[in-house]
Formats: sequence, structure tokens, C-alpha cells
Amino acid sequence: MTQSPVREQEAPTPRLNYGPEVQRLRAGFASDRTRTLAWRLEQLDALQRMLKEQEQHFLDALHEDLGKPAMEAWVTELSNVGGDITHARKHLRGWMKARRVKTPIFGQPGRSWTRAEPLGVVLVMSAWNYPLQIALGPLVAVIAAGNCALIKPSELAPATSALLARFIPDYLDPDCFSVVEGAVEETTALLRERFDHIIYTGGAAVGRIVMRAAAQHLTPVTLELGGKSPCVILPDAKLEVVARRVAWGRFMNAGQTCIAPDYLLMDAETEARFLPLLKQELEGMFGRDAQQSDSYGRIVNQRHFERLQALMRGENIAMGGASDASDRYLEPTVLSGVAADSPVMQEEIFGPLLPILRVNGLTEAIDHIRSGDKPLAAYLFSGDSEQLKRFEELVSAGSMCLNDVMMFSAVADLPFGGVGESGMGSYKGEDGFLNFSHRKAVMARTQLKDPALRFAPYAATKFALLRKLRG
Ligand code: NAD
Repeated sequence: MTQSPVREQEAPTPRLNYGPEVQRLRAGFASDRTRTLAWRLEQLDALQRMLKEQEQHFLDALHEDLGKPAMEAWVTELSNVGGDITHARKHLRGWMKARRVKTPIFGQPGRSWTRAEPLGVVLVMSAWNYPLQIALGPLVAVIAAGNCALIKPSELAPATSALLARFIPDYLDPDCFSVVEGAVEETTALLRERFDHIIYTGGAAVGRIVMRAAAQHLTPVTLELGGKSPCVILPDAKLEVVARRVAWGRFMNAGQTCIAPDYLLMDAETEARFLPLLKQELEGMFGRDAQQSDSYGRIVNQRHFERLQALMRGENIAMGGASDASDRYLEPTVLSGVAADSPVMQEEIFGPLLPILRVNGLTEAIDHIRSGDKPLAAYLFSGDSEQLKRFEELVSAGSMCLNDVMMFSAVADLPFGGVGESGMGSYKGEDGFLNFSHRKAVMARTQLKDPALRFAPYAATKFALLRKLRG
């Protein structure tokens, strides 16, 4: 056979190769030290120490990245992760215990149990909006479950990313943890490697890229995505309480919170009573000029700033609307009489805009919510227990808060995660521990001689007896 004169074009050699780094972590995992309770507690303690000793560095970085006020950053990022660590430390011994299950007569004498075993090396890809919490919250569960991890912080929060890359190797077992900084090129190269689990937090478009890459290696994924989280306010709700909670939840971190109420649903009469109360709360929190307030954050970058400006265009601004591009400042803004098919209702806002969609009653609100993708969170304010129960039963969402917003995320024993378009899998508490473990099924028998029943030849008498035993 003569050789074809046309040589097949060779695939370009990728510039970046994280194979050796993943192999190094794999060797750390193969040492088996991550399986012990002592190692896991040590790593959790070290993480807690890092948060305490480097607190000021992290607060400064969060301010640099997102203009985060120190108290907000401490509550939602450092203390949030610290709470998860304390909780995991307290319960880890119990979570790691084998769990006995009943062994049926066919398995007697014998015992059966499940044991949660670590998976191996986990890739943690985090987002920029809570750049510390979203990198380290999942890491707590990853460590609790006895895994090694490669952490890829978000390049859109560069100051925090740099600190994680600097401090994690100093505090955690360097054979088992490493940080890779970078953007799309680095992430693409990382995703070529085989991991034992990938947890990704961010938008659904990249979520699909991550899942496709993971499929090449049959790697399980946890996707922490977003969506339009609805907040229904019924006429009987205590509106002064609602206004304060909604103002806090929507405008914290300048609206860049995945579980923030994305839009409100209520009737016209309730809206008329609600708006002045919301205005009062916003002024109470951020003053008459939020740009001067040191309790109010900034939009992460110019691209998002312009995206938000475009979403406001043509809408009826009931409150706010001022902006300053040079400062990436966008005033807390409320949009009234928004149409269900307007651009601001088509995508997650992820900024300090709050549209109000008019609905008449809970049924109409539920129908609207159920006509769209399943959200990451759903909220209802009402004093009527029947309505609260209906909402809880009929609305599917990653999480739900009745008569408040976002506070479920501070409950250590509640899983945190999405459903459908808002994600899959969860972390926090025991659910997080199990998410990064394999529950191995184990059965142990004795070596006593067996009765003939289960073995060939399959005589009719054996068959009849088996049927009888099964009942
Ligand atoms: P993103 O999806 O743009 O980026 C997240 C990560 O993906 C980054 O580390 C980035 O480097 C990487 N990336 C970006 N493009 C890539 C590509 N083409 N190939 C490979 N990797 C790529 O993040 P975003 O959309 O700006 O994040 C905002 C979204 O994240 C919102 O929808 C929000 O609701 C969601 N979010 C969810 C949670 C949660 O816990 N469920 C928390 C925070 C944010």
C-alpha cells in the first residue's frame, strides 16, 4: 500500500497540561491518609485557622473584588464557611460510621451495611460573586468526605483568587490540595483531566460545558447554577417585615447573589402599599444616596454593568435607576408593571434590579412560576398557613423559604443545591458529606455450609419452596 501524500493534520499540542498536577494529588489520595478521621479533622482545623489568621487579607480582597462591606463579607463568606467547618467537625465521626441495614432470610447468617468512602480527587470550580464561600463551602464537604481537591477560583474575583492560591498550600496538606488560577483556557485544560467528581458553581451555559467534559471520563458532577428565584407577596403579609427582608436579600452584594429574590409577584393593591415601605427600608439601609454608603457593593465588572443597564431600558422605574459607570455603581432599583415577556424577565438578573410582576392571587403566581424553569430558590410571604402549605407542595425549587428570603442557607443541616435548570447535587451538612462520598454496599457472610436451595440443579421442589419463602 502506498502512503497517501496528504498527511493527516496533527492535533495541536495543548499549551497547558495539568495531568502531572492531578497525578500528584492522586498519589496523595493513594497514601490512604485522607481516609482517617484524624486527617479530616486536622484539615478542617487548618482551614478554620486560615480564615481566622488571614481574615483581614480576605476582607480586603473581597472589598477590592466586589466593594464588599466588611461586615457583609464576614457574615456571608468567612463566618458562613466557619460555621460549616464547626458543624462538620462536630458530626463527622457520626457521618463516617457504617450504617447497618436489615439482612433478609436468604442472607442469614449475615450482616449488611453501607460505608461512605471517599471518591478521590475532586475539582472545585467556583464563581465570583461569593468567591471565598463558593470555593471553600464545597471544600469543607469535600474534606469531610476524605477527598483530595484541586480548586479553581473565579478569575473575575482576582484578589480573592490570588489569596486562595497563596494560603491554601500553606495551611492544607500540600500533597492533597492545590489551587490553579486562570480563566477559560486554564479551565478548558483542567476539564480534559479525569477527576473523581467535579463541583461547578456558575451559569448554566458553562455548566453544560462542564458536564460534557465530565461525560468523557464518566465523572459525576454537582452543578450549582442559578435562575430566576420568585418571591410572592400575598395581601395578608406583614408588609413592613417583608420590605425589610426583601430589601436585605435583593440588594446585598449589589444583587449578585444566586439565591436572591429575582422578582416579586403581587397584586396592584399590595404593590401600592409595599413600595413606600420598601423605599423607607432602602433609605434606612443605604441612605438617600447609596453610592455614598459603605454598606452597599459594586457590580463585578463593566460587562455585567452594561448588561444590567440594558435590562432596565424601556422599563418603568418606580425607585432608583441612578448609575455611575466609572464606579460600577448601580442604585437599588425597582421596576414596576413589568410584562412577563420583557427582557428583564427572561434571564437571571444578578444585579440590583427588582421587577414587580402583577398577579392576582396565589394560583396565578404558582402557574407563572411553574411555567418556567425550576428556580434555585422560591419565596412566599403570607400569614395564611393553607397558602404556605400549597406553595410548599406545588412549587419545585432547589430550596424554599416561607416568610423570609435566603436564610435557609444558614441552616447547617439543610442541603444547598438546585433542581432541573438550577442544578443537581448539593453540599452543606451531611448531604454534602454524602455528595462527595460513595455509599458502598457491603454484605458479610459466615463460612457455614449452605443449604442446597439456591444452587443448581433447580428442582421444582426448590422453586416451590423459594416462592413460599418470598411470600
Ligand atoms: P461563569 O459560568 O461565567 O463562570 C464560572 C466559572 O466557569 C469560572 O471559573 C470560569 O473560569 C469558568 N468558565 C467560564 N467560561 C468557560 C468556558 N467557556 N469553558 C470552561 N470554563 C469556563 O459564572 P457566571 O455565569 O458569571 O456566574 C453567575 C451564575 O452563577 C449565576 O447564574 C448565578 O446564579 C450562579 N451562581 C450559582 C450559585 C449556587 O450556589 N447555585 C452561586 C453563585 C452563583
